[in-house]
Amino acid sequence: MKPFVMQALRNSSLSYRNTEVWADLTRQAVDHVSNGVVITDAQHPDNPIIYVNPAFERITGYAAEEAINRNCRFLQGQERQSQPGVHKLKQAIQNGQECRTTLRNVRKDGRVFWNELYVTPIYSEEGYLTHFIGIQNDITAQKQAQEALLRQEKDFHAIAESMVDGLIILNQDGHIIFVNSAAEEFSGKSADQLLGNCLGIPITVNSWSEIDICKLGKSLLGVDFAYTPVVWQGAPAYLLSLREITGRRQVYDPLTRLPTRILFNERLQHAIDRSRRQDNLCFAILFIDLDRFKVVNDSLGHAVGDQLLVQFALRLQEQLRACDMLAHLGGDEFAILLEDLSHLDHVTKVAERINAVLTRPFELAGREVFTSASIGIALGRPELENPEDLIREADTAMYRAKAKGKACYAIFDQRMHAQAMLRLQLETDLRHAIERQELKVCYQPIVALNTNRLIGLEALLRWHHPEKGCISPDQFIPIAEETGLIISIGQYILKQACQQVKTWLNQGLIFAPFTISVNLSTKQLANPNFVDQILQTLQETELEAHYLQLEITETSLMENPVAATSIFRELEAHSIRLAMDDFGTGYSSLGYLRHFPVHTLKIDRSFTHRLGTQEGDLEIIQTIISLAHHLKINVVAEGIETEAQLCCLKTIGCSIGQGFLFAEALNSQAISDFLLNQRQQGL
Ligand code: C2E
Ligand code: CA
Ligand code: CA
Repeated sequence: MKPFVMQALRNSSLSYRNTEVWADLTRQAVDHVSNGVVITDAQHPDNPIIYVNPAFERITGYAAEEAINRNCRFLQGQERQSQPGVHKLKQAIQNGQECRTTLRNVRKDGRVFWNELYVTPIYSEEGYLTHFIGIQNDITAQKQAQEALLRQEKDFHAIAESMVDGLIILNQDGHIIFVNSAAEEFSGKSADQLLGNCLGIPITVNSWSEIDICKLGKSLLGVDFAYTPVVWQGAPAYLLSLREITGRRQVYDPLTRLPTRILFNERLQHAIDRSRRQDNLCFAILFIDLDRFKVVNDSLGHAVGDQLLVQFALRLQEQLRACDMLAHLGGDEFAILLEDLSHLDHVTKVAERINAVLTRPFELAGREVFTSASIGIALGRPELENPEDLIREADTAMYRAKAKGKACYAIFDQRMHAQAMLRLQLETDLRHAIERQELKVCYQPIVALNTNRLIGLEALLRWHHPEKGCISPDQFIPIAEETGLIISIGQYILKQACQQVKTWLNQGLIFAPFTISVNLSTKQLANPNFVDQILQTLQETELEAHYLQLEITETSLMENPVAATSIFRELEAHSIRLAMDDFGTGYSSLGYLRHFPVHTLKIDRSFTHRLGTQEGDLEIIQTIISLAHHLKINVVAEGIETEAQLCCLKTIGCSIGQGFLFAEALNSQAISDFLLNQRQQGL
C-alpha cells in the first residue's frame, strides 16, 4: 500500500469515505475476499446483476460477462420452485428487506453448490431502493459432511433400535448421553430419566462381567455387560452393552454351581481373542467325562448320581488355580479352561492330578464308589474360528482316551480329526452295507466241555467292506447303535440265524437240546415292537421258541433294569431264553441275578484269560459257578484258548465253554461241514 494512503487512513477513516483512494481500497477488498459478491440493479424490473467479484466467478464457474444482465435466479437450476430458501429470498427482495438464507445452487458445470447467501438492500439518500448486494458463502463441504453425519446417525439409530442388547453411551465423565429402547427396557427407566445421569458401574474396558441390573433400576435381572471405547459425535466415549441372562439362559448349573457351557464358551472366546492380540499366550482345554457314570446312576439311583457329580466337581476344583475355569457342560461332562500357560507340561500335569485324586473312593449314601475319568485335551490356537471347534477337538480326544482304557487322557491331534472323518465315512458305508448285503452272519460253536459235543451256536455279525476288508463288530456295532441302524441290523441277524438253524434242524444236523444265541443291544430293547418282532420272526421261520437264546451284556441290562425285566419276563413266558453276556465286567452283584429271568451266565473272557495267572480269579469263577448252579443257571466260559484253561475250568465245575480252542466264528457252510463231521464221529 502506498505510504500516503497509510498516512491518510491513520488520520481519520471517515474523511476518506468519498475519496478516490477509498473507492480503490474497497474495490480491492471486494476483489480479494473469499465470499462471492453480487450487486444487482433494484430499479430495473428484472433486478439484473450489474457486478460480480472474482470469488463469485470461482464459486459459480460463470465469468462476469456471463452473469451480468441476468437475474440471480439463473443459479438455481431446474429445482428453483421447490426450494424453501428461494421463497424467503423472493419475499425479502419484494419488500426491499435484508435476508439470510441457504440456497441449493448449480454451477456452470452442473455440480451443485450450497450457497449461504446474505442479501442487503441499498437505499439512496432520497429513500429509493437502488441496489441489492448479495454475499455468497460456499458451504458445500460443510453441508456434505453434515448430511453424511446425519445419515450415519440415522443408520445407527435404526440398528440400535433393532438390537436385543441394551446400548448405553457414556461420555468421559460417565454421564449417559445415549440409550436405545432395549436399554430403557432393561433398566425400567425412560431415556429422559437416564440421559445425563451417571451409571455407577466401574468402567473396566472390554471385559464382560455380570452385574445385577438393580443398579440400573429394575431388580432381579442379571445382565452381562462390557464397555468398549468409542468416538461419539466427535468426542471419546464408552459404549456399554447389556445383555439379559437370567430367564433366557442358564449360566450356572444349579446342581454343581459351576458355570455352564454358555459362560465357558464366552471365556474361551475371550481367550482366543486375547491370544490373537498377544503372541505367546498359551491356553488349553480339558474335556472330562466320568467313566461309567451311567452305571452308577442306574444302579444306585439318581440322587446318588447327583451326589457323585457334586463331589467330583469339588475334587476337580481343588486341582485348579484361581484363574482356571471349571465348567459343567451337562450330564457327566466337565470342561476346564487353562489360560496363561507357561509350559504345556502344566496341562498334562493337571490331567494326571485329576486321575490321581480319583483313585480315592467317593463316599455316597454310606457306600464307597470308585470312579475314574477320561480326559481329552485340546490346545488353543489363535486361528480358531470359534470356541465350539476347540471343544469338539477336546471331545474327540476324550473318546480316544476312553478307548485307550478308562482313567486316561489323550491330546487332540490332526490324526484324530482324520479318524473322526473316517468314522463318519464308516457310518455312511454302514447304511449301504445293509442294502448291498455286505453283512454276513457267522456262528461260533458252544460246546459241552466234558463231551466236546456242540450244544449251541452264537451268531456273530461280520462286515465284509468292499475296500476295507473285514471290519470288526466292536468297531461298527457302536456306530449302528448310535445311528439307530441297529434296529434293522438286529432284525436282519435274528431272521438269518433262525432261518439257518431251522434248515440245520430240517437236515438233521442238529437236534435238541440246542440253542442259537443272538446278541442284543439295549437300543433294541427300547423299540416298543421288540417282543412282537421276535415272535413274528419265529413264526415266519417256523423255529420253535426254546431254541432261541438272547444275549445281553450285564452293563446294558443295568441301563434300564425295570424295562428289561418286564421284557424278559414276557419273552420267558414264550420259552425264549436270556443269557447275561460279559458277566463280571459290569456293576451288578450276584444278588441281582435273582431279579432277572436269566437262563445262562457267560463269564467274560477276561476272567478265562487270567486263569492260572492271577491269584483270586479261580475263586471268583468258582463262587460264580456254585452260586449259578444253586440258582439253576447255566454257566458258559467265554474265550477258552488253551488246554490249560480248559482243564482248569473243568476242575472247578464249569461244564460249557466257547473259544478259539474249539472254533472261531465260522460261516454257515463251514458250520455245516463241522456238524457233518461231528455226526460222523457219533457225537
Ligand atoms: P461278544 O458277544 O462277547 O462275542 C464274543 C466275542 O469274542 C466275539 O468277537 C468272538 O469272536 C470273540 N471270541 C470268541 N472266542 C474267543 C477266544 O477264544 N479268544 C478271544 N480273544 N476272543 C474270542 P466278535 O465277533 O468280534 O464280536 C465282538 C462283539 O460284538 C460281541 O461280543 C458282541 O458284543 C458284538 N456283536 C457281534 N455280533 C453282534 C450282533 O449281531 N448284534 C449285536 N448287538 N452285537 C454283536
Ligand atoms: Ca455275546
Ligand atoms: Ca461276551
